[in-house]
Amino acid sequence: MLSDTSVQEFRALLRGPLFTPADPGYDEARAIYNAMIDKRPALIAQCVDVADVIAAVNFGRDSGLDIAIRGGGHNGPGLGTVEGGLVIDLKLMKGIRVDPEARTVQVQGGCTWSDVDHATHPFGLSVPCGIISSTGVGGLTLGGGVGHLTRRFGLTIDNLLAVDMVLGDGRFVTASPDQHPDLFWAVRGGGGNFGVVTSFLFQGRPVSTVYAGPIFWELKHAPTVFRYWRDLILSDPEDLGGFFGFHIVPPGPPFPEEHHMKTMCVVDWCYTGDLAKAEAVFKPIRSVAPAAIDFCGPIPMPAMNSMFDALYPPGLQWYWNADFFTEVSDEAIEQHLQHGPQVPTVNSAMHLYPINGAAHRVGRNDTAWSFREANFAQVIVGVSPDPADNPRIIQWSKDYWAALHPYSSGGAYVNMIMEEGQERVQAAYRDNYGRLAAVKAKYDPHNVFHVNQNIKPAK
Ligand SMILES: Cc1cc2nc3c(=O)[nH]c(=O)nc-3n(C[C@H](O)[C@H](O)[C@H](O)COP(=O)(O)OP(=O)(O)OC[C@H]3O[C@@H](n4cnc5c(N)ncnc54)[C@H](O)[C@@H]3O)c2cc1C
Repeated sequence: MLSDTSVQEFRALLRGPLFTPADPGYDEARAIYNAMIDKRPALIAQCVDVADVIAAVNFGRDSGLDIAIRGGGHNGPGLGTVEGGLVIDLKLMKGIRVDPEARTVQVQGGCTWSDVDHATHPFGLSVPCGIISSTGVGGLTLGGGVGHLTRRFGLTIDNLLAVDMVLGDGRFVTASPDQHPDLFWAVRGGGGNFGVVTSFLFQGRPVSTVYAGPIFWELKHAPTVFRYWRDLILSDPEDLGGFFGFHIVPPGPPFPEEHHMKTMCVVDWCYTGDLAKAEAVFKPIRSVAPAAIDFCGPIPMPAMNSMFDALYPPGLQWYWNADFFTEVSDEAIEQHLQHGPQVPTVNSAMHLYPINGAAHRVGRNDTAWSFREANFAQVIVGVSPDPADNPRIIQWSKDYWAALHPYSSGGAYVNMIMEEGQERVQAAYRDNYGRLAAVKAKYDPHNVFHVNQNIKPAK
C-alpha cells in the first residue's frame, strides 16, 4: 500500500504530471492503443526529462511496485501498462535533433515515428521504422524494427548508434559500441528488459521521395501474385521492398466504390532506387496480373509511413500471432490461400514482411535479434472496433497461425506476439537468450524491469 505522503513526496520530485486513480485525467492517461487491455495502474508518471525518469525508477523500485515502461503505447499485449503498479510514461519526452552533417538523429524516448518523420524529412533523411507512424520509437526499436526500408537499410536496430538509459538502480548510462558494448548488444532486440531508454541516436538514411504504395489484386490472382512476389523479393535488388498481405478493401475513399469490402491480396511496395527508373522496375510487376487498385507511385516517405494510420486508430481490439519463415514453400502458400481470404473484419490482415537484404548482412550473434537467416516475418492480426468480434478475430488469427506454424523457423518477432509464455520468449532469441540473461543479470539483477517479454537474469 502506498501512503499519501509517499505519493506526495514522489509528486514533488517530478516536473511532469503524476496520475493516481483519484486524479482527473487518469482514465485518459491509462488508456493504451489496444482496447482489449484494460489495466488500472496505481500511478502513472508522465516524465518530462531524465531526472523525472531517475526519480520514477527509484520510487517504483523502493516501493516494490511493478514498473511498466511506455513509449508509444502500441504494444500488442499491452506491456506499456501494469495493473496496480507504476507506469513510467515517456510520451512528453518529444525532443529530436537532426545533425545534417553527420546525418544522425537524436530522438527522445517518448517520440512516435511520425515525430521522427516530421523532423527528418526537411533534411532529406529517414530512419528505417515500421509501417504505422503512431507506433512508438521506444518499443519498436528495442524489439528490432521491421518496415518498408528493411531490405535496403536493415532493421531499425541496424541503424541505431547509441542509447542513453536509466538502469534499475537509478544509474544513467550511455550504451554504444564503445560504452557498455554488452548492454548495447542486448538492447538491439532485447526489448525493454535492461532499463528506460531516454534517448536513441540513429543513423539517418538519404530517403525522401520514394515510389511506393499498395497494389491490390482480386483473390483469383492471389496464387500467381503470391508466388511471383515471393520469388521477386528473394532475388531483386535491395532497393525494392514490399510486403504481401490479405486485406478487405475499406469502404470509403480513396478506394473505388465497386471494390469496397472485397477481400483481396495486396503488396505494399516501397522502391527507394532512382525514381527515373521506377516505371520500368514496376512494369513486370504490373503485368503479372491485372490489378484491381493501384496506388503505387511517387510519394514522400512520411506519407508512405503514415498511409495505414487511418485504418488503425487507437482504441481498437487487437490480437495477433507471429512467426519467422526462412522460406515460404508452395505448400505453405496453399495454407495461406485457405486462411487469408477469410480475413474477418476490415481492420484485420495477414502481413508477410521481407527481412532479407541489408538485414542479412548482420550476423545472428551480432545483436540480440537472432533470426538473421529468416527471410520473412509474418503477422496475423485480428482487429475490430467491436469487442463482440473478439472471439472470431482471435480464432481466425489462432487457426491461421497454427496452419502455418509447422512451416516456420520456430520463433517469432518479439514485438508481434502476445504474452505467450517463457518458451516463446526464448524461441525468439534462440542461442542469444543465454547471453541476454547474463547481460540482464549484470544490469538488472533484481528484474526491476519485468513487465515486458521478460528475459530472466542468469543465476
Ligand atoms: C498498429 C501497429 C503497427 C505496428 N507496425 C509495426 C511495424 O511495422 N514494424 C515493427 O517492427 N513493429 C510494428 N508494430 C509492433 C511494435 O513494434 C510493438 O507493438 C512495440 O512494442 C510498440 O512500441 P511502443 O513504444 O509503441 O509500445 P509501448 O506499449 O509503449 O511499449 C512496449 C514495450 O516496449 C518497451 N519500451 C518502450 N519504450 C521504451 C523505452 N523508451 N525504454 C525502455 N523500454 C521501452 C517496454 O518494455 C514496453 O513494455 C506495430 C504495432 C502496432 C500496434
